[in-house]
Amino acid sequence: MHVKAHDEVAIRDALGRALRDLRISITDRCNFRCTYCMPKEVFGKDYPFLPQHAVLTFEEIVRVVRLFERLGVRKIRLTGGEPLLRRDVERLVRMIAEVPGIDDIAMTTNGSRLTYEKAAALKAAGLRRITVSLDSLDDGVFQAMNDVSFPVDRVLQAIDAAAKAGLSPVKINMVVKRGVNEDSVVPMAERFRGTGHVVRFIEYMDVGNSNGWRMEDVVTADEILSMIHQRWPLEQIPARTAGEVATRYRYLDGQGEIGIIASVTKPFCGGCTRARMSSDGQLYTCLFGGKGHDVRAWLRSGMSDDEILERIASVWSHRNDRYSEVRTSETARLPRVEMSKIGG
Ligand code: SAM
Ligand code: SF4
Ligand code: SF4
Repeated sequence: MHVKAHDEVAIRDALGRALRDLRISITDRCNFRCTYCMPKEVFGKDYPFLPQHAVLTFEEIVRVVRLFERLGVRKIRLTGGEPLLRRDVERLVRMIAEVPGIDDIAMTTNGSRLTYEKAAALKAAGLRRITVSLDSLDDGVFQAMNDVSFPVDRVLQAIDAAAKAGLSPVKINMVVKRGVNEDSVVPMAERFRGTGHVVRFIEYMDVGNSNGWRMEDVVTADEILSMIHQRWPLEQIPARTAGEVATRYRYLDGQGEIGIIASVTKPFCGGCTRARMSSDGQLYTCLFGGKGHDVRAWLRSGMSDDEILERIASVWSHRNDRYSEVRTSETARLPRVEMSKIGG
């Protein structure tokens, strides 16, 4: 296979899907212990987090970005773990922003370290968009979910800080889990209506094998939609970009929009153009992948860019993942990578 720089749609997978987005987890560590992601029973004091030498350096990450750009990637999202735990992350953003062809850099964060100064530094470095996760406006509910007693107010301040630094509109991710925070759906919609920010309600997913996922715990997209629609009527609007994961709805009274990510009940594998890199440089072609491809070994073995490129291209061209479309109670038991490792 020969891949030239800046080819249009350089590559397609076995199901005809292009490669457009790369999500990079820059650390497997987090200061939260969200029960649906890093439950304390599993991610306790003795959990073997990656040692520093195992984690890709900024220089290695940027080399990966350059290679993926040549295969068609235009959009990079930095995630984790908690990406803002990685020191000097604005330096990484700047390095990525300098890669020709990359036209969008975004980050997903829990907001705990997102001060105005940090947000402004990220923006100045070239970050275009930010998503802040917040599962409830009720302190009791939120603190039970993040499981480290982190208060709602500090996340709201982070959202304001991001907006003030010019990273608006801010996207706000809320994972909805039955019996835990479905009563927070309407208050969240209410709080952010008319602010320009966009709340994205996410169906609780069976990522990894730690969170004890059960279908009964999923509040479906239809349920979420009807809760909000009853209060403030909504209508669906077209996707902004191909391969967008959230279905968009606008308030009929003109107070903005929301998104619903129905990865369980309405899977969108057909348009999935995303690759994911874990913090230790394993390439996953699906969020529900069991085994990654060891790009770090290729980076550290003295292989040339072209040699690594051929390997990544080969991985993508063999890709036939469509986990969410074929999910059953059987597949839910297969070994899978943890969310905190590849970052959602
Ligand atoms: N720590 C950052 C944060 O929480 O925003 C970034 C990493 S986190 C893994 C990325 C997103 O995945 C968050 O919005 C989080 O709520 C979501 N997430 C984690 N586990 C999930 C699950 N089991 N189902 C659905 N979304 C999940
Ligand atoms: Fe940390 Fe984000 Fe996972 Fe919560 S969802 S435990 S904040 S990585
Ligand atoms: Fe993409 Fe896998 Fe999610 Fe389907 S299940 S949308 S292939 S990441």
